[in-house]
Amino acid sequence: MNDYRDFFPIKRLTTLEGIMINETPLRIGVGKEPPLGAPVDVAVYRVGDVPCIPGSSIKGVFRAFVESLATSQGTITHSPWDFTVMDREAKEGKFCIICGIFGSTHIASHVRIYDMLPKDDENRIKAKQTLIKTSVGIDREFRGAKPGALFTEELIVPGIEWNFKMDIINIKTFPQPDDERGKLLRSLFDTLIHFGINIGARRSVGYGLIKLKECKWKNYSLEDGSLNLEEEGVLK
Ligand SMILES: [Zn+2]
Repeated sequence: MNDYRDFFPIKRLTTLEGIMINETPLRIGVGKEPPLGAPVDVAVYRVGDVPCIPGSSIKGVFRAFVESLATSQGTITHSPWDFTVMDREAKEGKFCIICGIFGSTHIASHVRIYDMLPKDDENRIKAKQTLIKTSVGIDREFRGAKPGALFTEELIVPGIEWNFKMDIINIKTFPQPDDERGKLLRSLFDTLIHFGINIGARRSVGYGLIKLKECKWKNYSLEDGSLNLEEEGVLK
């Protein structure tokens, strides 16, 4: 537990830019209601007509992963919906390590994850050619469908390359972390590179496995409002 409200001043900014690839079919939902006039029951989230993976969805999955990792190491954590604990943390000025990275109702997030869009024209075209799958509505992920009734869902095909962009504020993560939060973030990136993490719907059947393909990091220091590049490298 620590007081992680260290945003004034921001001393360190790390930017990450890379390519994420979905190795299995993927659907990031738009909620249980399909868009008006959609030919399927559950549609892929889009910006304009281009499929998109919202940064908030990625952040939620990253948080859950880091939370389970911390728990397995014996750290006491809580769900992002446990408002009682988050109120208490703010009152005592001691935040758990997870809120110290991803924020809570009382502390701003130290990470910012941007919406992911297909990396170029080729991937944009591929991403638009979605799959339509018909299933029987037994899964609780499909609250909109009647049990036993047929429904259709739209999925993004495997192998799309997405632009990944993330900022880390005041947590030293590269080249070597200097606190527990940096270590947890490093484990997250190691997992994303070597094994991948499942995002979106149908994770229990292996859908939405995303892997980080190439990723560059840059450490900036901030002084008198100016950003100075201190060090850079590539994640391996
Ligand atoms: Zn917390």
